[in-house]
Amino acid sequence: MSNLSRRKFVSWMGAGAASSLILKGCLGNPPEQASTPSTTPPSTPATPAASGAVKGLETTKIVLGYIPIAESAPLIIAKEKGFWAKYGLTEATVSKQANWASARDNVVIGSERGGIDGGQWQMPMPHLISEGIITNGQKTPMFVLAQLVTHGNGIAIAGKNQGKGLGLKIADPDAIKGFPQREGRKFKAAHTFPNANQDFWIRYWLSASGIDPDRDIDLLTVPSAETVQGMRNGTMDAFSTGDPWPYRIVSDGIGFMAALTAQMWPFHPEEYLAVRADWVEKHPQATLALLQGVMEAQQWCDRPENRQELVEICSGRTYFNVPAAVLTPPFEGKYALGDGKPAVDDFKKGPLYWKDDRGSVSYPYQSHDLWFLTETMRWNFHGGAIADFDKARQLVKAVNREDLWREAAKAAGFTADVPEKTSRGVETFFDGKTFDPENPQAYLDSLAIKRA
Ligand code: CA
Repeated sequence: MSNLSRRKFVSWMGAGAASSLILKGCLGNPPEQASTPSTTPPSTPATPAASGAVKGLETTKIVLGYIPIAESAPLIIAKEKGFWAKYGLTEATVSKQANWASARDNVVIGSERGGIDGGQWQMPMPHLISEGIITNGQKTPMFVLAQLVTHGNGIAIAGKNQGKGLGLKIADPDAIKGFPQREGRKFKAAHTFPNANQDFWIRYWLSASGIDPDRDIDLLTVPSAETVQGMRNGTMDAFSTGDPWPYRIVSDGIGFMAALTAQMWPFHPEEYLAVRADWVEKHPQATLALLQGVMEAQQWCDRPENRQELVEICSGRTYFNVPAAVLTPPFEGKYALGDGKPAVDDFKKGPLYWKDDRGSVSYPYQSHDLWFLTETMRWNFHGGAIADFDKARQLVKAVNREDLWREAAKAAGFTADVPEKTSRGVETFFDGKTFDPENPQAYLDSLAIKRA
């Protein structure tokens, strides 16, 4: 995006629009999802089915699960702005999932039996579900079709730990390691689902400063509301989380941000669109329509002039059910970090959906799947099930369908934005470590704290 359009957006949001958004809601209720029942919002496409429909569609329906966080915006926008309808998926629905475990269970069930066909996933959930690793051995092959978003996540710390130098790099690891001596218990951190993004981000952050996430702290899976309550009352110290929580935690005085994932690994892979393989194989044309609608939604989401409408749609009762005011700052790239750190004010450090400074956001680079599986090996999450790079590469090949992304992008005319390679190349993290997808073993070897 040009500097001019970003400035226009920032000044526009900074003036009357932002204050009118704030008036719309109260800041009292945390956006907890755990108790929200699974719902299928009413079908209200903004544009009727039109001439852009993909030829030979096998179905006009698909049911996609989502978690009400910033990552799901392209699915909600594809539905609400009529992009799926435009390509012929007039009956595509999005279904709010109570939590990640529910999404996992519902995709194993499938839409014909009241579950879902696919939707939004942390990584490497599609690979683990395909292998039956997190589904009690029940293998449900899935295809990763697109990445939904980059950024938008971070490490939040309870207010009681202020003033101890807990930043991107931890000045004194004893601030965390010394908890048992000082507090009579270990430093306690949470994420909302194990062995996926949030778990990886906090593990990376801790171990980069010499803190072993398996030995030096307690790292648990806890629902968001319970974690935030614990951060308020002093029983929980950290939360690896995503928008809109990083904003809420600071603005509600619950704590501060040690780091944004945008700072830990600029333009990192975050959450993905993945669908049951049997659905894709039965509906090849509808898969192209699905992807084209998502791609167009992602482009729409990244236009600064659309972000106010994005916030209004996503914050609504049908979707996130949060005050619009809590979504506005992250969608402007504005994060107050707290604890004396300078605030972040950069559109490109907020959630991005279509393109970023490293290339495509939407295209599912196979090198990123390989990083998630390498990190899975690093922590020995699944023992022999994913224990070597041959297995990891074989899984990437089976699950990642970047070929379908390419086909859909070309059919929709987005040819200028199709990457040349399946690899994004060498990745560099905030601590200087590098991941070369051609030599993942060198990355593993370079890490001091690991179980591999
Ligand atoms: Ca996330």
